[in-house]
Amino acid sequence: MATSTRDYYDVLGVKKTAGEDEIKKAYRKLARKYHPDANPDDPKAEEKFKEVSSAYEVLSDPEKRKQYDAGPSFYGQGPQSAGGGGFRGFQGGQPMGGDWADLFGNLFGGGGGGGFSGGGFGGGGRRQQRAERGEDVSVAVKISFADSLKGVTTKVSVPLTVQCDTCKGSGAAPGTSPVTCPQCQGRGVVSQSQGFFALSQPCSRCRGTGTIVENPCPTCGGTGLTRALKKFTVPLPAGVKDGTKIRLKGKGEPGLRGGPAGDLYVIVQVDESPLFERRGADLQIRVPVTMAEAALGATVRVPTPEGGSVALKVPAGTQEGRLLKIRGKGAPRLGGSGKGDLIARVNVLTPERLNGEQKELLKKFAESRKEDPRAGRPGWPA
Ligand SMILES: [Zn+2]
Ligand SMILES: [Zn+2]
Repeated sequence: MATSTRDYYDVLGVKKTAGEDEIKKAYRKLARKYHPDANPDDPKAEEKFKEVSSAYEVLSDPEKRKQYDAGPSFYGQGPQSAGGGGFRGFQGGQPMGGDWADLFGNLFGGGGGGGFSGGGFGGGGRRQQRAERGEDVSVAVKISFADSLKGVTTKVSVPLTVQCDTCKGSGAAPGTSPVTCPQCQGRGVVSQSQGFFALSQPCSRCRGTGTIVENPCPTCGGTGLTRALKKFTVPLPAGVKDGTKIRLKGKGEPGLRGGPAGDLYVIVQVDESPLFERRGADLQIRVPVTMAEAALGATVRVPTPEGGSVALKVPAGTQEGRLLKIRGKGAPRLGGSGKGDLIARVNVLTPERLNGEQKELLKKFAESRKEDPRAGRPGWPA
């Protein structure tokens, strides 16, 4: 209590037993006296005015007044000690449901961004602006298949919300500043008495910010925010796969009212390769061979993803679709523990467009084999 905490009754100059009318009268008198319009460029008067408004805001509302009387620590933060932060009164076992925080959050949650620094908000106890985390943003980056194996440093440009450069976020045209909202006198809320109840609602004119911009900044139209392309350099590791999401923490949309920024997700799109198909860290390649190569065996050269080639031994009697492993010629394993394998999938080609001599040779060959590949198989006709 050593700081400038002030009792709301003292602020209005009334007794604790004062009735509603008495409080209203006292408020009106003081509000007129300290109103910013009557005291242009007098920060002390403005401070006084906010103090008086805060006191009235609470004492004019039977429910809030009851809370205040029950536990002064809740509203005890005078306007001058706004830095002290809000809801200290929650300890001490007072009967104040958590609803209060929700209520205030709802009341003031919808306000715009930068306006609060203008000091439009009065009482420290009411300064319950809920910080909001910025949104996550996703951006796709396309890379070639070769780059996905080698690793590559990419640059992405992302349209993001940033503070307007022209007005430095105030929303006011250069040379002007936001002014106290005339509808709520800077309180950000308006109170309406409906019989016994007093309803506090965010001011519609200033949307709860307490200030309005009379001459909007031409760049941002008064919002204090603009969109700008932000560039990021994103190194992609060797072996990065199609569909990989890379999170850049805090590089998304900025948070509201001091909330943390969202994250930026870079989604990697890898071009397809005409030769290689990715299977985890392995790469598969189709290796066409002739019927004779498959039957007699052969050594064929197979392209590797790095651009060279390796010799592959196709054993005699290789069937269509056989998989032959070429060790360590696949994609780099993420984390740097070597490479996967290159898998050769043998594709036996049937000879087409035979000339007369070739047909004769094949017929002779078939006669000497006397084969029936379907004979003796269960379910096949004899
Ligand atoms: Zn207002
Ligand atoms: Zn601007």
